[in-house]
Parts: sequence; structure tokens; C-alpha cells
Amino acid sequence: MSSPRILDFECHDIRFPTSDDLDGSDAMHQDPDYSAAYVILRTDQDGLEGHGLTFTIGRGNDIVRDACALLASMCVGQSLHEITDDFAAFWRRLTSDSQLRWLGPEKGVLHLATAAVVNAVWDLWAKHENKPLWKLVCDLEPEELLQTIDWRYLSDAITKDEALEILRANKATMQERERALLERGYPAYTTSAGWLGYDDEKIRRLCLEGIAEGWTHFKIKVGADLEDDKRRCRVVRETIGNERTLMVDANQRWDVGEAIAWMRELAEFRPLWIEEPTSPDDALGHAAIAKSLAPLGIGVATGEQCQNRVIFKQLLQAGAISFCQIDSCRLGGPNEILAVLLLAKKFGVPVCPHAGGVGLCEYVNHLVFIDALYVAGETEGRVAEYVDHLHEHFIDPCVVSDAHYMAPTAPGYSITMKRESLDAYRYPDGAIWRRRVERD
Ligand SMILES: [Mg+2]
Repeated sequence: MSSPRILDFECHDIRFPTSDDLDGSDAMHQDPDYSAAYVILRTDQDGLEGHGLTFTIGRGNDIVRDACALLASMCVGQSLHEITDDFAAFWRRLTSDSQLRWLGPEKGVLHLATAAVVNAVWDLWAKHENKPLWKLVCDLEPEELLQTIDWRYLSDAITKDEALEILRANKATMQERERALLERGYPAYTTSAGWLGYDDEKIRRLCLEGIAEGWTHFKIKVGADLEDDKRRCRVVRETIGNERTLMVDANQRWDVGEAIAWMRELAEFRPLWIEEPTSPDDALGHAAIAKSLAPLGIGVATGEQCQNRVIFKQLLQAGAISFCQIDSCRLGGPNEILAVLLLAKKFGVPVCPHAGGVGLCEYVNHLVFIDALYVAGETEGRVAEYVDHLHEHFIDPCVVSDAHYMAPTAPGYSITMKRESLDAYRYPDGAIWRRRVERD
């Protein structure tokens, strides 16, 4: 099997008008149009392409798409094996280009674009190997997996030798655990009931539907108005009962003191965690909140907007989070995500990935199996986000059954979007957007 060579690429600005129904609305983002900067890497092998995306919520998605094009152009001319044989060096080239890095480094638009391009490379690799991505990773030897990670900035928190030990121990028992995990799936929770823009009746109805579908963990948005939050938490707690779990998410709305005071008021509803209580960059602020809320039995969760592995390292070192929420499109692809999974394992913090948006559940579906089989080595205390939006646009959408993610089976990273969806939702010239402009 000769190694495919990347010949050229396409980058698209894809947007879905989700703000019409307030799907995805929270205390900071009142009207998201779920969007994707979408990359296709074309090769010299017939029909073999790598697809990748990063997630945004509308305006500015074109800027990310343009950044994707800058980075994708750095892949052109390389064979897949030239990249994957020293994957960390490739990743370092993308993230540390001597001029482009000034726009980051490893944060913001440029790092979102890094995710799209790196995700596309992994998709290409997995398709070429004819395996779903989680299986490709789990079949790597521990040393091979470690050589995909850029270890710069990590050695004060975890060494390569420590990581090797974690992976070797899990590799030895992987086979016997794999069968049971594939049968049961990976535990998931739903956010579909709790968007801030939904009224009480809709929340109650969606919770009841969720219970009927087997969901045991429900997350709702808070942070805009305390009395409103109390009412909505009460609606959910009354509907889901005491035996099910409630989580709340403030989407960075509060200052540190405000977060503590607000959550003391919501403690009576017994949330498992408060998610994103304050700025995602504020490691010490999260630590202060975690310390104050621990006696109330409320953990702190964050990560969906943590820009890179260094912030995760600090959050873990500072004891600032009880739940580590990796994001498949905010971190720079599986290379960096693997580093954060290993850090979380070292510090004994469960990884509960952020998902939803467009394509995030498809990505997370692979990442949770990698974590459960190869890094954490278990699912205990872990639950991955699931939101029932926009899956119909993917050729190989995630499968959730009885509140569990089931392992993907198709080759690749499950993100290939249907051509008709790419064409219809391309901004601003796709049919969906042209029609809206005419209507308005
Ligand atoms: Mg969130």
C-alpha cells in the first residue's frame, strides 16, 4: 500500500441557521449559528481524501476558513507517511511557523484552524488504514502514540516515561476490556433540554422525553438571571427526580466571587458540576471557585474554550477542576488531545468531553473510546456530552443508544459531510443562505 500524497485542498465556510430556534443559546452566546470551517485534503489516490473541521458559532467563520487555507497549504506535496512517521514534528511546524505563530501562538483563530487541518490529516490516515480513528490509535504501540505528541511545555507536569507507563499498562489489558466497552458503549449526557432560550414547558417536555430515552444525566444553562435559574433548576430537578444527575453551565458569565455566591444559591438543586463559571484562561480563579464549592459537593468543570494543553496543565496542577472537558476542535487535533488525556490521567481527573455544535459529537465518539481503552483505562465517573443537532449532515454520524455512545465502525474520523449539505449551507452563496437573503 503506497503512501498517498496530498496534492491540494478545499476550505469552506459552512453555517447552519440554528439561531432561528435558539438552539445552543446560553448566558454568553444568545444567537449561535452553528458553523464549521471545513477542510478537504485531496490526494493522488482515487477517492481518498482527508476531511476535517473546526467549530465556530457564525460570524468570523470565514476568518477561520482563511487561516485553514494558510495551514493546509503547508501539507501540499507531503506524503501521508512523511507526516505520520514524525507526527509531532509536523504538528510543531503547523503551530510554530516562524511568522504565523505571532497570530497565536497555539490559541485563537490560528489554533482553531490547526484543529481543522490536523483533524483532516488524522481522517486521511484512518481512511488509508481502513480503520475508524479510535481503532487506529488503539492499535498503535505506546511508543508510536507518544511520538504524535509535541512534548514542549509538559515535562514539569508529566514526563514521557510516566506517559509510557500509563499506556503500557492499559495496552496489556485492552483486549479484554474492549469487548465489554463496545457492547455497552460509553456513557453520555444530554444538553438538549436546557438551552437558555427555552421556556419551562419546553424544558419539562424535553426532560420527560430524555428520561423515556434512557438519559440519566441532564445539563442546563445558567448564569443570566438568578431567580430564573432557580426556577429552571427546580423544573428540571422536579422532572428528573433525585435519582438522576443535574449539571449546570454558566459559559464564563461570572467573576470569581459572583460564581461562588451564585452557586451557593443553586446548591439546593444538587448539581454535580458548575461548568465554565468564569474566564477559561483563569486557572487560579477556577481553583478559588473549586475550593469554595467543594464543601457543597459541587465540582468545577471546564475546558471547551481552554486554548491549549498549557492551560489544562495549569488547571490540573492548581487543583482547579474536578472534570476535564476537552474539545475536539479547540485543541490542535488528536495530537494535543492525547497529551491532555494523559495529563488528566496523571492528576486523577476524569475527562468528560465537550460536544454538541456541529461535528463535535462525531469527533468525541472516537476520543472517548481512546480514553477509556488506552489512557484512563475505565469509564468510571466519566460522561460525555451529547446534543441532538445537525447529525443528519454527516455520512457516518455518531450513534447513541440508551444514553451511550456506540463505537464508530466506518474508516476515518466520522466527519465527512454530505456534498449536498456542504453545497446548501456554504456561506453566503449556498442555497439556504441565498434563499434567506431573498426572503429578508
Ligand atoms: Mg459548556
